[in-house]
Amino acid sequence: MKHYDYIFTGAGLSALMTVYEMAVSGKFLDKNILLLDQNPKKTNDRTWCFWEQTNGKFDTIVSKKWKLALFANENFNRILDLNPCEYKMIAGLDFYDFVFAEISLHPNIEFVNQKVNSFIEKDDLVFVETASETFSCGKLFNSIYDPKSALSQQKLPVLQQHFIGWKIKTEQKIFNPELPTFMDFSIPQNGNTRFMYVLPTSETEALLEYTLFSKDLLPETEYETGIEDYIHKLGISSYEIMEKERGQIPMTSYKFWKNNTKNILNIGSAGGWTKASTGYTLKNTVKKSKALVEFLQHRNDFRKFHKTNKFWFYDLLLLDILNDKNQLGSSIFASMFKTGNPALIFKFLDEETSLYEDLKVILKCPKRLFIDTLLRRMF
Ligand SMILES: Cc1cc2nc3c(=O)[nH]c(=O)nc-3n(C[C@H](O)[C@H](O)[C@H](O)COP(=O)(O)OP(=O)(O)OC[C@H]3O[C@@H](n4cnc5c(N)ncnc54)[C@H](O)[C@@H]3O)c2cc1C
Repeated sequence: MKHYDYIFTGAGLSALMTVYEMAVSGKFLDKNILLLDQNPKKTNDRTWCFWEQTNGKFDTIVSKKWKLALFANENFNRILDLNPCEYKMIAGLDFYDFVFAEISLHPNIEFVNQKVNSFIEKDDLVFVETASETFSCGKLFNSIYDPKSALSQQKLPVLQQHFIGWKIKTEQKIFNPELPTFMDFSIPQNGNTRFMYVLPTSETEALLEYTLFSKDLLPETEYETGIEDYIHKLGISSYEIMEKERGQIPMTSYKFWKNNTKNILNIGSAGGWTKASTGYTLKNTVKKSKALVEFLQHRNDFRKFHKTNKFWFYDLLLLDILNDKNQLGSSIFASMFKTGNPALIFKFLDEETSLYEDLKVILKCPKRLFIDTLLRRMF
């Protein structure tokens, strides 16, 4: 049986970003590291967007940046000035290629394309079983998301950000390539929180996603009809679908980190690294992977890695509301974005605001609704 210091079960965003941090730190040259994934990571399976100031760590693979973004509902449109941030786009495949190019320079890091069937901790070792082999390690980083643990409890709501996206090419020049649509709630809500998200890369090309923040998935045709209706509303008469993508991202304050042990750490969405109130994960992963690599150099017990903060509770309140009254999402986000300072809202979503700044954002939201939810949660 082959033994490693560290094994990563799953080699997607969180694992690759952590291994990248380890590699470039130069502090793990004496550690044997194995990445296990059922997928060879050679296809463009997702598009990531995130806001960040200029000069980010991954700027060389950013394929498009925007300084402005549109927020809309049935009553108003607002162009948000994102300064000092930019909204950046990275193609999944560019990120995988970027990290694997770095890994190829490090003979102590290995990638094996196998499906993980199980892992188990015994004494001070963790054993990982695939269809054809068993490996052992001292520390395991797991990013294989299993929704069962979150769904097996009722105390904390479990919603999802779910969507289907079409990358289309139009005949007419229809898009403003400098203006993505961050959220457009002007589509029929049908009792849910539903919006369109549009990422234009040229006047004739854009990714359009029909997105919900809700508990249950829809039949595939409902997302696709939603995209078609929106394309029609934009006045597009002729277009070609270049690519399709779909996503199902957990939105929950469930304490994934409670499942960590001394030697097994859940990372990425499986570790609660997804921002519960939005589904955004990349930015948190940048921060958490850096913190984790720092942690590994000084500490040994993975149960000590997670730190809860006030934002966990803020997210929980919003999710409580969306869980009980999913149809209110549009008005809550509209109240925040109608007159709120975009830079402050994004700083709040990045969990970097002071208590005073938190109040400035939160007080834009329907107060009665949040106070009632707060009281219900507390008592
Ligand atoms: C289409 C899509 C678009 C998204 N867009 C954004 C965005 O714009 N911004 C943002 O911040 N977040 C976005 N997200 C959310 C989040 O950033 C991604 O889901 C991100 O990939 C999560 O990272 P992760 O490491 O937790 O999981 P993943 O990147 O999914 O990695 C998990 C890995 O585990 C592997 N795996 C699963 N089961 C097994 C098994 N049994 N054996 C071996 N390997 C296994 C998978 O193949 C995968 O490579 C998006 C998600 C999706 C699906």
